[in-house]
Amino acid sequence: MLWKYNYHCPNCDHQLTNNNQIHFKVETEANESTHLYLSAVPGEYGYNSKDNLTLTNGDRIKFFCPSCNSNLQSKSHSEFIEVNMKVKEGILFEVFFSPVYGEQITYVMMEDELVKYHDDFFGEIEL
Ligand SMILES: [Zn+2]
Repeated sequence: MLWKYNYHCPNCDHQLTNNNQIHFKVETEANESTHLYLSAVPGEYGYNSKDNLTLTNGDRIKFFCPSCNSNLQSKSHSEFIEVNMKVKEGILFEVFFSPVYGEQITYVMMEDELVKYHDDFFGEIEL
């Protein structure tokens, strides 16, 4: 049951997850600013928004925390957006995903290496 895990802002620790969706503030290449909801279930891609966004594959989206407004672009891996995933109290994983629309790829930092994140990810590691 991966979707019980909660995603948090790395800067202010605000919980981004609600109803299996991860809430972000975003800015599109067309400078549209809106709220975007991504599935918190790994491997499930696509988005929801209250606005009719015109996203095409290859668009680079800027992601911001809806609470502290910080840019969520990763400082260590600038080609990715970085959020924290809390799997249980005191256990945090850094999760990285591409801000490019259509690039369906997510990584988790494990012992200083980026590991591809997939459905049974946590079935293979000891927590
Ligand atoms: Zn924040």
